[in-house]
Amino acid sequence: MFKAFMIKYGEIGLKGKNRYLFEDALVKQIKYSLKKVDGDFKVSKVTGRIYVDTIGVYDYEETISALKKVFGIVGICPMVQVENKGFEDLTLKVLEYIDAVYPDKNTTFKVHARRAMKNYPLNSLEINSELGGRILEAFPELKVDVHNPKINLYVEIREKINIYSEIISAVGGMPSGSSGKAMLLLSGGIDSPVAGWMIGKRGVEIEATYFHAPPYTSERAKQKVIDLAKIVSIYTGPIKLNVINFTEIQLYIYEKCPHDELTIIMRRYMMKIAEILAEKSGSMALITGESLGQVASQTIQSLNATNEVCTMPVFRPLIGFDKQDIVDIAFKINTYETSIQPFEDCCTIFVAKHPVTKPSLNHIKKSETNLVEKIDELMETAINTVETIVCN
Ligand code: ATP
Ligand code: MG
Repeated sequence: MFKAFMIKYGEIGLKGKNRYLFEDALVKQIKYSLKKVDGDFKVSKVTGRIYVDTIGVYDYEETISALKKVFGIVGICPMVQVENKGFEDLTLKVLEYIDAVYPDKNTTFKVHARRAMKNYPLNSLEINSELGGRILEAFPELKVDVHNPKINLYVEIREKINIYSEIISAVGGMPSGSSGKAMLLLSGGIDSPVAGWMIGKRGVEIEATYFHAPPYTSERAKQKVIDLAKIVSIYTGPIKLNVINFTEIQLYIYEKCPHDELTIIMRRYMMKIAEILAEKSGSMALITGESLGQVASQTIQSLNATNEVCTMPVFRPLIGFDKQDIVDIAFKINTYETSIQPFEDCCTIFVAKHPVTKPSLNHIKKSETNLVEKIDELMETAINTVETIVCN
């Protein structure tokens, strides 16, 4: 029945003169997301509307499911588009539509006509009442309800005429790439993929860095991070994942620094390296999955200590979330099952039994002076041997 979809977008409509940039970014993302769907599609932008036309056979459910995940789309309207051949013809098409989409006529409806083509012989109110009358004549079981109808039938008179009655709600947000790029510190846990998804939802292109510590962390732990990046990329578009070999740095910190400060010092080096990679690739912020008070390394003092090494803004979209809130999103975006696979994480292997929860920045800096001899060289090697994997 449906050969086309009208795409409703929210916030990007507000962007004034930049509107077309946002619309173009949205069109690009829609095309990207439909590449994986069975069928051929044409995505077009026509005066303030984005349409997806299908060509030949296609999978309806898959198409809706893909479109629902595109940041920037607030609603998807499966629609029938007909030529503008006069009111009689339109009436027939509308009756056909209702008959096909609503086999059970024991319900209520309201017609919402909109006339973008002002020279159409009837105005919106006239179309509403004329069409409403013809529908009642054809299907006497149907009733009109202007306040709370079960079926809202939209008829948009443009160059062509769009008929639709369902608005399937979608993820919302802003189209990927419309708000610059940021570097996500992506571990294999539950939190960081959710954090990346949230910032991606605001239109930010995501690049990621994972700190890998072979042989302490296995190939499967790395594969899990790749799998997570792939899931997030369904929403955000392709993610370039930088895998940094962190083993030497970790062992060196372990050898030279007090063990109760290990996690914080390690996290400071992760942030430093991520920022250097971010600068190289044109990212303008870092993203982490930290949530206030969740663990020792996420107290307000610890966050200060890790924040201190960066000059870029650090986005922590989960900062005020309870674990359950985060888990709920992880379920919704389908990262949860992957995140809970039990592979070791470099932060847990070298972790102290009793990490400091209120690190003093002075102590930490003093401990880090033990690293002067080799740390710069180790960081340089880690950065020069980065492995990049495009996840999509
Ligand atoms: P997550 O569930 O995201 O792993 P977490 O609750 O385990 O988070 P921490 O281990 O304290 O918390 O890590 C805090 C943040 O630091 C993570 O959300 C992530 O952004 C970053 N991070 C931690 N370990 C790594 C790693 N090995 N590679 C990249 N980023 C990391
Ligand atoms: Mg973790």
